[in-house]
Amino acid sequence: MMAIAYLKVRTSQRSKNLYLRIERAKHETDPRREGHQFIGEVPMASNVCVLGAGRMGSSIARALLDCGYPTGVWNRTAAKCEPLAALGAKVAPSVEAGIEAAELVIINVLDYAASEALLKQGDVASALAGKAVVQLTSGSPRLAREEARWVEAHGAGYLDGAIMATPDFIGKPETALLYSGSRDVYEKHKPLLFALGGGTSYVGEQPGQASALDTALLTQMWGGLFGALQGMAVAEAEGLDLATFRSHLSGFKPVVDAALFDLVDRTNARRFAGDDATLASLGAHYSAFQHLLEACEERGLDAAMPRAMDMIFRQALSLGSMEDDFASLAPLFRNGSPRQSREPANA
Ligand code: NAP
Repeated sequence: MMAIAYLKVRTSQRSKNLYLRIERAKHETDPRREGHQFIGEVPMASNVCVLGAGRMGSSIARALLDCGYPTGVWNRTAAKCEPLAALGAKVAPSVEAGIEAAELVIINVLDYAASEALLKQGDVASALAGKAVVQLTSGSPRLAREEARWVEAHGAGYLDGAIMATPDFIGKPETALLYSGSRDVYEKHKPLLFALGGGTSYVGEQPGQASALDTALLTQMWGGLFGALQGMAVAEAEGLDLATFRSHLSGFKPVVDAALFDLVDRTNARRFAGDDATLASLGAHYSAFQHLLEACEERGLDAAMPRAMDMIFRQALSLGSMEDDFASLAPLFRNGSPRQSREPANA
């Protein structure tokens, strides 16, 4: 069993500094403390301000208040700050005032356009000097890179984050948040960042990397969800109810998960040729895949997605061996015109 760690706020008698002390504790039962990780003893952020009190921003502010952080909040529609004020948040009269009072500024608004509008108004930019900015608004890698440049040009550190959860999961041990950008900001404010989710991790120094990983993981999820839509259509067309389909998903899941991790590992190692460890050759996959095409044809199901998959299979098979590993499809996804080139199977 993993050791459970927890966050504990202590005030030193000798100095007026407030320290966040993180200690190991086994068999801890307080659910608020469960799941936080042991990461040492570090100075606590003197103040944090959350810009944006929508569903996610409010949840972020609640989690910080819950862990004892002095938290300021600002929202365009001020009424949304009232429930947070009741929990102890200090409502800032303006974006500028919120930033000035804080060491760390967390932004969580609808999109980067809204964030940019907040930061580029009045004298806000000049208030940023010396602060740390954590951007938790969803955006693309390009937007993260641009904002990092702008924020850093105004003398602040910049960390870009992707929240892999809905607001009800903020503050839980299993909740994952991904960060990229300033390592200094991440290290300095790590305990506070972990207060938002025990599954917090630093992805890399390029500001766009957290957003890129977010998109990559969501892409994998959409593949599975679109596949489920097609699978449900096939099941129902053949008189199976969806409860039956559902009941067999968990039994099949270990096999699917193993194939997924094997695909990633083999692609990472560029082991595309079939070998003794190959779980199923491209030819075996393509043979089974014919049943999906046939079901769509026979039952008049929409076949747009299977046709696209068929095109990819055919491209790979026309260029290589039926004995290659399924991972040999990977190079086809690497350039804008994937039907034209292919890395050698043994590359
Ligand atoms: P939300 O409840 O609709 O809140 C949107 C927030 O953005 C509100 O505070 C809103 O202020 C503010 N806003 C919108 N336009 C603005 C503008 N022009 N100027 C200033 N403030 C503006 O949305 P949410 O669910 O909290 O999502 C916020 C961010 O978190 C988004 O980037 C979203 O993609 C991301 N996120 C959300 C989830 C989720 O499950 N909800 C999960 C992961 C990431 P008002 O109250 O004044 O309208």
